[in-house]
Amino acid sequence: MKTYHGSCHCGAVRFTVDADLTEGMRCNCSYCKRKGMLLAFIPKSQVTIEEGGETLTTYLFNKKVINHQFCSICGVQPFGHSGDTMAINLNCIADEDLDHTTLTIKEINGKSF
Ligand SMILES: [Zn+2]
Repeated sequence: MKTYHGSCHCGAVRFTVDADLTEGMRCNCSYCKRKGMLLAFIPKSQVTIEEGGETLTTYLFNKKVINHQFCSICGVQPFGHSGDTMAINLNCIADEDLDHTTLTIKEINGKSF
């Protein structure tokens, strides 16, 4: 496994992910589509919020089971979580840690959930 560094846009929120990131998922639900997120689902134990946890704001919608977390300063959403799983926004991972051109992109039909 590799350690990937991620942050929101302003840098207030910083986190690391221990994983082997090979695929990204695009979700067509009303929320992810608007945000343009590219997701990877990772066990919570492999994600560490290094800085700025207190800056995060949580948004809930629909069945209110996913905590969508975004930075209250810059508005960028680095991740969301539900139960023991975190949905990492791969667009928030540092370019030097993850080359997006190597990812397999999968479409998920979140609209139907
Ligand atoms: Zn920010």
